[in-house]
Amino acid sequence: MSDNLINIYFNSDEKSMKIKNTLVQRLKDRDFYITDDPSDSASLNICIGGDGSFLRAVHDSNFSQIPFVGINTGHLGFYQEILISQIDSFIDNFINKKYKLTKLSLISAKLFKSGKFKELFALNEFAIKSDNSRICHLNVYIDEYHLERFAGDGLIVSTPSGSTAYNFSVGGSVLYQELKGYQLSPIAPINSKAYRSLTNSIVMPDNSVLKIVPIKGELNNLEIINDGVLIPLEDTDHIEFNFGLKSINKLVFNPNWYWINIKDKFL
Ligand code: NAD
Repeated sequence: MSDNLINIYFNSDEKSMKIKNTLVQRLKDRDFYITDDPSDSASLNICIGGDGSFLRAVHDSNFSQIPFVGINTGHLGFYQEILISQIDSFIDNFINKKYKLTKLSLISAKLFKSGKFKELFALNEFAIKSDNSRICHLNVYIDEYHLERFAGDGLIVSTPSGSTAYNFSVGGSVLYQELKGYQLSPIAPINSKAYRSLTNSIVMPDNSVLKIVPIKGELNNLEIINDGVLIPLEDTDHIEFNFGLKSINKLVFNPNWYWINIKDKFL
């Protein structure tokens, strides 16, 4: 690893490009080397943009173990702690190691088809929905125990750091970013004489295995959305979710940053 080498991920909007140029100059002035072509031997991954850019940087880096830090040029910055006005103090604090390294655990989804599976990872969430606006019918198992036969618009399986995103919009709870557990939240669950679905979200321990089995006949009408990116489910028989098999590292400079952010953005 080279202490002075830094990877920069940035989106193509004008503001991010401008900030990138300023940042590169300030880093060079402090004897850092910068690469747009990410290197495995860098000491830091800087992401410029909004939360969506942060998610894309994490996926594009294939869940790099090099610590991430976000510089915010978007609207909401849950992953993007550093404001443009704080670039100089951020560089000072990085050089002086005045930060905490936080581990953000990911959720994995194994899409099973005839005994074989494809595995995906999410930093925020997976959402399972119908692809034609019809009701989804999904059997839900936790550690092989059948919990419910869900009927509604869909289900969201979110990480603690993703709990403030789509999960929050459907009434799920905010979980502290380093909590060891993950959440299952319904989207418009149906409760009637015909259907009984849990109306609230549930938080599962980190070692629980969550299995979602679409009822037969709906296999081709469902989609899974992985951190905002649509993946067709095709003939998936069932999906198995695990928490914490992989994680990423993120630098946090203000110890109260998670709560400050929630107060600033939601209250
Ligand atoms: P984007 O960059 O426009 O992000 C969408 C919004 O989600 C932004 O306001 C962003 O700040 C916010 N967001 C993302 N991660 C967050 C987090 N961990 N905590 C709080 N807010 C967060 O679009 P994108 O690149 O497609 O982002 C994908 C994310 O958008 C998904 O992972 C999902 O969580 C979110 N999303 C939310 C809704 C909703 O709230 N109804 C619907 C679809 C997608």
